[in-house]
Amino acid sequence: MNNDNGIEASLDGEARLAVGGLSQVDPQLAAQWARVRGRLQAEVGEVEYRNWLRQMTLIGLDGDEVTVHLPTRFLRDWVRSHYGDRLGALWQSESPRVRRVDIRVGGAARMAGLAESVVASPQAPTIELVAAPRAEERLERVAETGTLDPRYTFANFIVGKPNAFAQACAQRVAERPASPGFNPLFLYGGVGLGKTHLMHAIAWQLIDPARPGGPVSVAYMSAEKFMYRFIAAIRSQSTMQFKEQLRSVDVLMIDDLQFLINKDATQDEFFHTFNALVETGKQIVISADKSPSDLSGLEERVRTRLGSGMVADLHATTYELRISILEAKAAQANVAVPAKVVEFLAHKITTNVRELEGALNRLVAHANLFGQPITLESAHELLHDILKAHERRVTIEEIQRKVAEHWNIRLTDMSSPRRARAVARPRQVAMYLAKQLTSRSLPEIGRKFGNRDHTTVMHAVTRITELMAVDPSFADDVELLRRMLEG
Ligand code: ADP
Ligand code: MG
Repeated sequence: MNNDNGIEASLDGEARLAVGGLSQVDPQLAAQWARVRGRLQAEVGEVEYRNWLRQMTLIGLDGDEVTVHLPTRFLRDWVRSHYGDRLGALWQSESPRVRRVDIRVGGAARMAGLAESVVASPQAPTIELVAAPRAEERLERVAETGTLDPRYTFANFIVGKPNAFAQACAQRVAERPASPGFNPLFLYGGVGLGKTHLMHAIAWQLIDPARPGGPVSVAYMSAEKFMYRFIAAIRSQSTMQFKEQLRSVDVLMIDDLQFLINKDATQDEFFHTFNALVETGKQIVISADKSPSDLSGLEERVRTRLGSGMVADLHATTYELRISILEAKAAQANVAVPAKVVEFLAHKITTNVRELEGALNRLVAHANLFGQPITLESAHELLHDILKAHERRVTIEEIQRKVAEHWNIRLTDMSSPRRARAVARPRQVAMYLAKQLTSRSLPEIGRKFGNRDHTTVMHAVTRITELMAVDPSFADDVELLRRMLEG
């Protein structure tokens, strides 16, 4: 991952130096640097490393002082205050003669669009602005924005059927902002399905110094923040400035637009800003919990404008997507989560990804704290409260009805004594699903199926499980029914 000017900015921790005339590097020093970087990376994790530390360049060792360069003032300050001590300690363990690590701006600052004039850096969780400044101007803070979560990147976004289209649109906008047909990009979907994650991912990519064509300036904020800022600007009679600031960015992103609804003045302002930006070829990205046509309290012209580019929705997760997400997050956390537990969570927690993550995090935290492996039993125990809240309200009657419809038998056959395979098998499936999808006990389930014994229910559950294992098309049928019932 060499930049144009030959500065190493790679994850592999190799010190390959060609900066500031210093092209000869002591191989021993380079090896030490590689180990320091490697250990730091292992300590802070890959994401954090990539966001903050990857661009460190070793300049050299002079006496007892090691000099490290970072491309921007902001990165320098951040690394100094957050990792300075750690860097020093790691260097010392490599080479006792090192007493100081001098962290400076240099090298990559020559990169296009990344001059020393960087005021607000993209990677600033503390600075509430996201702006990659153009080289020739000194940008003030453009606007208050939400914070960009370093974990919300495209690399960390798991793609599945329900979100593939929205993800593709987001990626497209991140690669080529303001292309026709994709402006504005309107992302919508229920809570916890990845809207904010995708928006941050777009922003991260746009402000990446290594972006082909250079980084562009982005203002990202929630609609609430937008409103708050606008009102504050009115109070301090600086609305002109506020507007100017907003209009100076290349990409404007507003998250959770539904909060702007029914606030007439702010809606107006938003609309004007919106038009001004689109007319000058800037990209707008919006998220909301509903589609433009379903958002109530929106003026017609705003609604029309919002729907005039690309509208993409994030659908509810599927079982498959939940499995992939859990597997990815478990791998990231570096904790072994048995397949049975992953499947259990994916079955039980179906509302949204945030809740799924929360459940997994609890298991991981517990495993780390107590050094015990995660098991199905411990998962049951630890997630008791969450699982209870998620208990599906599917009734046995519903299950019976759906299953009877599916195999075209009469509903009364669910409780009839008939034993013909054509009825007995669907009945067993219904019992199996009743066990899986409700919290009813075996005797309770038996009673609902024509007062059958609980051992009959147990037998049904075993039988169906076996059949599903050997007959994929049967398994598909049962899974389909399950999903329909889960709604
Ligand atoms: P929303 O803004 O739609 O309410 P978020 O973007 O905040 O949802 O997502 C909630 C949580 O779930 C976040 O931690 C996010 O990283 C995670 N998440 C959502 N979708 C995915 C996905 N497809 N892959 C990985 N993580 C996801
Ligand atoms: Mg959100």
